[in-house]
Amino acid sequence: MDLDFDRRHIWHPYTSTLNPLTCYPVTSADGVYVHLEDGRQLVDGMSSWWAAIHGYNHPQLNQAAHTQIDKMSHVMFGGITHDPAINLCKTLLSMAPENLEQVFLADSGSVAVEVSLKMALQYWHSKGQQRPKFLTLRDGYHGDTFAAMSVTDPDNSMHSLYKGFLPEHIFAASPKTGFHQEWDEADLDDFRDKISQHQHEIAAVILEPMVQGAGGMRIYHPNFLQGVRVLCDEYGVLLILDEIATGFGRTGKLFACEHAGIKPDIMCVGKALTSGYMTLSATLTSKEVADTVCSGEAGCFMHGPTFMANPLACAVAGKSLELLQQGEWQAQVETIEANFAAQLPKLLNYDLVKDVRWLGAIGVVETKRPVNMEAIQTLFVGQGVWIRPFGKLIYMMPPFISQDEHINALVAAIETALQDPHCFQ
Ligand SMILES: *Cc1c(COP(=O)(O)O)cnc(C)c1O
Repeated sequence: MDLDFDRRHIWHPYTSTLNPLTCYPVTSADGVYVHLEDGRQLVDGMSSWWAAIHGYNHPQLNQAAHTQIDKMSHVMFGGITHDPAINLCKTLLSMAPENLEQVFLADSGSVAVEVSLKMALQYWHSKGQQRPKFLTLRDGYHGDTFAAMSVTDPDNSMHSLYKGFLPEHIFAASPKTGFHQEWDEADLDDFRDKISQHQHEIAAVILEPMVQGAGGMRIYHPNFLQGVRVLCDEYGVLLILDEIATGFGRTGKLFACEHAGIKPDIMCVGKALTSGYMTLSATLTSKEVADTVCSGEAGCFMHGPTFMANPLACAVAGKSLELLQQGEWQAQVETIEANFAAQLPKLLNYDLVKDVRWLGAIGVVETKRPVNMEAIQTLFVGQGVWIRPFGKLIYMMPPFISQDEHINALVAAIETALQDPHCFQ
């Protein structure tokens, strides 16, 4: 592979042209394995950022893509419809919280978030109310486009770079009580203050249910989410749940909001929707929100991407949801969770480790010092695993098909890294 060209001309996520880090050449991937050009195979601990839940190169997902590509890979969605979209949305609605009845298909997680924010703004506009603000949590992550970034943690996403251009929203303190800890009612104080203080200007609350992902891998108590729902109802504010990372079984429930027994008014899904085959996302809402949006001045919902409901992506997504409906994911995720619960606490014996936490098929080791990316990545690849930490967070969200031996390999590699001072700054 022409790695020299890659290094000189191609941007990777959050990388510098002045100091490009090593990229590993991958030629194929199969099941839980990623294959490098030099013949080595790595146990995947990332599911390609939450996406490849059923593993790579899955025969039934491949078949769905082949069958569809021989019919058509794309056709516009304006004035045209097709079975891949209809079948996918039927399945999606049958799995989602039952108050959600209307689906908007979009191209990426960030766009699904943009769409959810626009829905909330148009909803209040239709009702003749000016509500230009969103309330969200610190340490959150909702994507890299501007509106999504505006509700992402202001420090992590460096809002200072975009001052004067980026809309300014309202941030409440993130929950302190972990999922397995004793609930502390005070966790909701700041959120309650903010929502009561700004109720008339807030269109919606947006947050990640149960797990704050890229903003800090924080796994919080279900009572927080329950409290948020109660307060949104009390103050008449819409609740948008961003299930882009957590959706489709990752936390041990099909959707993370089920841990708290609550339903959103608007829900975003993405990442695992096609099991990592293609980019596709969706924003779901209730009939009431959808019809209110469309009863306003515009007379419709004002959004329509070129590649909306791409048939190829929809066909694969439909098949991936069918695989989930067969139900095996539940035992698979439980096995992974039990393995994390058995193994991660022992890592607390290392001085470097500040905290370990897990939920479903998510395992997190938080360290006291930031990792040295180049060194720790080299060590992991040497150990035969693919784990991509950021800052002080070494975390795993392996494909659901991972067996104990694969999880053991991931945890063992992390333990080896913890013993190597070069891996940390
Ligand atoms: C990844 C992510 C997004 C953004 O999705 P993209 O497909 O990268 O645009 C939004 N919200 C959450 C919670 C995510 O994890």
